[in-house]
This record gives sequence, C-alpha cells and structure tokens, in this order.
Amino acid sequence: MRYTSTRDQRVSKTGQQAIKQGISEEGGLFVLPHLTDYRLNLQNLLGKDYETIAQNVLTTLLPDFNTAALKKAIQFAYHKNFSDRRLTPVRSVGDFHVLELFHGPTSAFKDLGLQLLPQLMRLALDPEDRIMILAATSGDTGTAALQGFKNVAQTGITVFYPDHGVSPIQERQMLTTTGNNTRVFPIGGNFDQAQSAVKDLFTDTGFAARLQAEQVTLSAANSINIGRLIPQVVYYFSAYLQLVESGAIELGQKVNFTVPTGNFGDVLAGFYAKLMGLPIHQLIAAANANHELADFLETGIYDRNRPFLKTVAPSMDIQISSNLERLLYYKSGEDSSYVAKLMEELATTGRYQVRPDVLAAIQADFAGGFAADAQIAASIAAVWKQNDYLLDPHTAVGYHVMQQYRETTGDSTPNVLLATASPYKFPRAVAQALDLPVTGDDFAVMTQLHQMSGVPIPANLARLATLTAQPKHVVAPEEMGQAIIAAAKEVFNNDQRVRSGNKR
Ligand SMILES: *Cc1c(COP(=O)(O)O)cnc(C)c1O
Repeated sequence: MRYTSTRDQRVSKTGQQAIKQGISEEGGLFVLPHLTDYRLNLQNLLGKDYETIAQNVLTTLLPDFNTAALKKAIQFAYHKNFSDRRLTPVRSVGDFHVLELFHGPTSAFKDLGLQLLPQLMRLALDPEDRIMILAATSGDTGTAALQGFKNVAQTGITVFYPDHGVSPIQERQMLTTTGNNTRVFPIGGNFDQAQSAVKDLFTDTGFAARLQAEQVTLSAANSINIGRLIPQVVYYFSAYLQLVESGAIELGQKVNFTVPTGNFGDVLAGFYAKLMGLPIHQLIAAANANHELADFLETGIYDRNRPFLKTVAPSMDIQISSNLERLLYYKSGEDSSYVAKLMEELATTGRYQVRPDVLAAIQADFAGGFAADAQIAASIAAVWKQNDYLLDPHTAVGYHVMQQYRETTGDSTPNVLLATASPYKFPRAVAQALDLPVTGDDFAVMTQLHQMSGVPIPANLARLATLTAQPKHVVAPEEMGQAIIAAAKEVFNNDQRVRSGNKR
C-alpha cells in the first residue's frame, strides 16, 4: 500500500515518506487510495483502552512503521500527557453525548494529533535529517504543535499566527512555550494569509534551496499532514466503543457525529473512520459565520470571495478548508486530475463548483450548517441553563448546528457532539454569553467563570498567568521566509543537543 497525491496519482510514497514530507511536491495532499479496504473489527476493540485502539488504527494505516516502535510512540504521546484516563471521555448531556477532546496539554482537540505527530516524524527521519516544521495557526494548532515538538531531536518548529487573530490565552500559551527548538511569530495579516504564505513556501524552490544550504528541509504540522490526521481517526472509534460499553447504543447501531469545523481535518478523520467500518450515519460539519464550507455542502459551490469575519470561535475563522481536498479526491472516485483542476480554479478565481454526482456522493455522508456569534452565545447559555454543562464557543457552534439538523430532518439517530476546546480557553466569550459581569483580563474572567460554574480550570491554563511571555516580534507575510531561515540557523547550528540527535 502506498500513499498518493490528491493532485497527481503517479505520486507513490510510504507512510514514513508522506509524514516526513507533509505535502506533495505539486501542492496536493497525501491520501491512501481504497480506504474501505482497511476496515477494523469493532468487536475486537471492545473494552480496549485508548492506546490499544490507537495501535490498531495506526498499524492499519501506517504498515511501513515498525509495530513495536509505533507502540512506544503512542505510549510516549498519550500515557502521561492527558488529564483523563480515557483521554477522550464521552459524557451524556441531556439527550446527546459530548466527546471531550480537551484533556491534553493545551486543552484543545489538536493535542490528540500533535502529541503523536512528532513521535511519528521522529521515527520517519533518517539520522542525518534536520527538519523545520512550519505551521500557520488560528490559535490552537500552534500551541499544540509547539508542545508536541518542543525539544524533539532533529526538529525545529516555527509557528506563525495572525496578530490580533487569536485569543489572549492562546497567544500567551504560544509566547510562554519553552524548548530550545521553538520559534513563534505574530504576522500582520489574517489566518488565510498566513496559511497561504506557508503553502507557497512549501512549493518555492528558491526558498527550499536556501534552506538546503543549511541542510534543513521543511515539513508541515498543519492538519494537511497525514501523520496528524490519522491519530484523529482514533477518537471516533474510542467514542463509539465507549457508547457501546456504557449501554447507550448497541454494537452496529449507527450514530451521528457533529463536528465544529474550520480546516475540515477533524470531521474528515470521522469520514476516514466511517470508511474503515465505523457505523456512522451522518457527519454534521458545523461552521461559524465564515461559512463557505456549509454553503458548499448545500450547493456544491465553494466560493471564498467574501469578507473574512472575526468571530468568537477564532480557531474556525477559516475561509479555505484545506482538507476538503481529500474529500473531493475520495468522492470524485479518486480522480486526481479532477481535483487538481478544482484546486487550480480555487487558486485563480477563489471559487469552484463540483459535478452533481460528486455533490450527491458528499451529501450522502455529510450535512452542514453554521452559527453566527449570537447563536453561539445563545447555545452556551441554553446548555448551561438546561444541562449545567459549559460549552466553549467552538463546541457551541456544533451544538447549534446539531439542534438545527435534528429539527429540520427529524433524524433520531443518537448524536455525538465533539467538544474541541475547554471553555476556559475562551473565558471572555463564555462569560459574556452567560451574562456575567466581565471585569479584568482573561485570567480574571477565567476565575470568575470558575467561581460561578464550579467547573475545574485545567492545570495548564491556571498556570499560564504565572509564566513569563517572550516579547512579540511581528513579521509581515513577505518576511516569513527570512524568519524561517534565521530560525533554522539558530536552532540547528547553536544547539548541540539537537544536532547530536539525542532523543528527548
Ligand atoms: C482547529 C479547531 C477547530 C477546527 O478543526 P478543523 O480540523 O480545522 O476543522 C475547531 N475547534 C477548535 C477549538 C479548534 O482548535
């Protein structure tokens, strides 16, 4: 089995090559053809812990990795770094279930992918490799990637985030990261500009040559890296098995998952789980006021020619859902030249329309919807009032769209809502939604919210207020390349520990 590119089916890579490289030379994303050939046996997974389920998913999708080494990597990533023994516990809230994905070191779901990706990357590297990880972040990816990659041998990580485009807590999480191989830069631009600039650098041969002169190659930690997507498949299986084990559903019964969506990585992992045999009826992709994706799921037209909006769910303030490209690949019958044509249209006109048969195939698995800021606030208030459960603004987007879906379709399939961040990561928006008198900085609001709700504050967030932040150094999008070269020089030339290849 070989990974290929969404834009060129002649590309053929092992899992290790795909993870190391991050993105294909011609700009496509790595995908595994015929995913339905890789079904898991649910019966065998019943009663197993998260790490064992992860082991099953990973050995299935990454068979070129050594099994014992994979097991160690999973253990290293997950054994001690999560505050809940089940990693991603499912809670019943009213008449639906919440899959809590925020018990990792940065309190957002991205920890599930980004604790494991660096370990997979390490296994994929040759002894002489020196890799600079590049990430553009709308907040949570950067934080989680910095935590995952800090002090990992043979790697450096450079993160760009939109200045004023992430929450104060997220910014503080990034600017207080330790580790001698980590670099963080706010950029003067929005997330899509940061992400496009990062994508351009990956295909810029002149830039690659300059890095090569430092004997450094680039790789990606955004959800376009297959090594980040695959770990996310695991919690869909875990959630389903937890529901069977608790008696909430029977083995084989179908469920719906509602997923707050930005780059389409999280919900795509759910689609992978479905192709691998998980009984999923509908995947409900929930967007905020930047709802290009929700419109696409309804009309088959993706059109990003509209204003970029800042919302109270900033990690979903995204106009181009990169991972949708992988869905287009599968839903077009794995037609890479068709996908290449659509992506070319998107790049040149900001718009494309899929064929009716492709749209129908997508709609067979996906529903969509969106929530504006007012609906997010109303959802946070309603769930607190009715169920004593605190939603973060991203999860609240999902809640609104899940309810809307249930009302309009009458579909009575059991629902699992993915909770993608702790409410304490976005305390101001949550407190305002609950009509609390909001005073002081975000840490003061965090405490107020805790006093009102009694919900514990995750230790990593409570600790943040006491850490010293590094000074901000804003760079323009056109200066990003230079910043990376400088970071590579410092990280790899000054750091004996990284150069000598010690494992952390
Ligand atoms: C990244 C993020 C999302 C969106 O996930 P995608 O994989 O980009 O669709 C939703 N909620 C939170 C809290 C996030 O950090």
